[in-house]
Amino acid sequence: MHKIVELFKTTKVSVAGPAKKALAVRIAKSAGLEAYPRSLTLAPGGAVLLARKGIEKSLLVVSLEASAPAWAWEFAGHKMTASLDRQRLAITVCRLTHDNAAAVRRNFPHTAPRVFGTRTAAGLGDRLGVGTPGHVRAVRGTGLVPFFAQQSIREMTRTGREARQVMDDATWGVFQEGWDEGFGSDADHLKTTVDIDTCITAGFTMYTIDPGEHVDNSADTISASELRAKLGATNWRALETTENELKAAYLARGLPLPGRVTLDATEETLARAAVKYGAAVSHTAAMFRHLAGRMGAKPFELEMSVDETATPTSTFEHYFVARELRRLGVKWVSLAPRFVGDFEKGIDYKGSIPAFRKSFAGHVAVMKELGPYKISIHSGSDKFSVYPIMAGLAGGLVHLKTAGTSYLEALGVLAKVEPDLFREILDFAFARYEEDKKSYHVSASLANVPRSEDVKDAKLAKILDSNDGRQLLHVTFGSVLTAKSDGRHLFRERLLDALRRNEEAYYAALKKHLGRHVKPFAVKSRKGK
Ligand code: ZN
Repeated sequence: MHKIVELFKTTKVSVAGPAKKALAVRIAKSAGLEAYPRSLTLAPGGAVLLARKGIEKSLLVVSLEASAPAWAWEFAGHKMTASLDRQRLAITVCRLTHDNAAAVRRNFPHTAPRVFGTRTAAGLGDRLGVGTPGHVRAVRGTGLVPFFAQQSIREMTRTGREARQVMDDATWGVFQEGWDEGFGSDADHLKTTVDIDTCITAGFTMYTIDPGEHVDNSADTISASELRAKLGATNWRALETTENELKAAYLARGLPLPGRVTLDATEETLARAAVKYGAAVSHTAAMFRHLAGRMGAKPFELEMSVDETATPTSTFEHYFVARELRRLGVKWVSLAPRFVGDFEKGIDYKGSIPAFRKSFAGHVAVMKELGPYKISIHSGSDKFSVYPIMAGLAGGLVHLKTAGTSYLEALGVLAKVEPDLFREILDFAFARYEEDKKSYHVSASLANVPRSEDVKDAKLAKILDSNDGRQLLHVTFGSVLTAKSDGRHLFRERLLDALRRNEEAYYAALKKHLGRHVKPFAVKSRKGK
């Protein structure tokens, strides 16, 4: 057994497996708490770990009483002393506040996000803020880079969370599980420079620019004369080019791409692409320049996403967008087209599989020609029928994004451990669905979902096995989490407390379900790592 005094003298002592667990348990016990053994992290002259009493979690900052190191003073909490191995220990019992999370990130870099370039990645959005340990377990051993902090501005508004809370929750989850392989953080669907600034302050490292409001979806179908008029009205100054320059660049020669894909650009397809995406390109360039200016020397990465637009992105349109972004000096690690078929929330792909394969191959060909960068897959939850196609064609240049499916897993656990609360949430979701579905791509029909009073407790979780039930509960998350009565949340704290009381069940559900998502993308040849 390691003597605590030896450990505190050096960070070189490797504590692993049973010895680490035993040490963490003994330290936490000396403070009257129960340890999260994987969290134990040594630092010069001391250690930190996460512990709990009931559902209340605390950070323990531990050192010898006689010689507390300077870094330990960065943590604010309740100070106490304890005895271990005949040594007097100073222990600060800290609440999981923002300031303490920031101190953890400063002193223990594995708990802070960083950039990963084009490594295969999985975004694991956690709307409730208590799921990261389960997400860690889902990606462990896959070789994928996890993005544990991932939230769009819309999700933050709907869940009543701030960007820094999203970051802090990811930090605590990573710390609890002792995940030291690094993680990314994705400030998703940013539409304005104000959105960017908010997420810079919170320490995000990846910025997903969504210029969807600048995409003109009518370009696919308008008449030749309307097209002519719209092209004439293009803001060429913002695009830093002219119509003639575009024609010279795209029409002068054929555009062969890797993988026997050829683009046949005609004056018409070019005009439609320019009308549809021109303003989106110039907006993205402006957002990139703002971000680069604000970040200065700090590393960051950028994604451009047009996944939430009404019409699919064709191979040529993807080519046009990427080539124009490059001309304007934008640097990006991933691009999210709007795919063919239906990528509805929380359920499998709907549409023609051969059409998807052909279209995805086109996106990959463009990415290889103008990249490398990753194809980003938004609304990536539960698309089990197309994961193998994506993984096979993109050769690891993929960023899969999920979020809502983890919320559904939470409700699945709730249905089992607190069926009455699940029933309340289900009833509430029925009342909210028609309104809440307006901003989502879903097709559920309420007539296909049983009412709570018609379902026995043991069958409640089955509601989450049907597409209709999943979408009903998926799109109403914001209303559920923010609903109030007499100034108090109706469900939020009760749901979170139920998950905290049953956290191992929640982590196991996430490990299983998100594990199925990431498995097709696992990076196989990582020998020696
Ligand atoms: Zn998206």
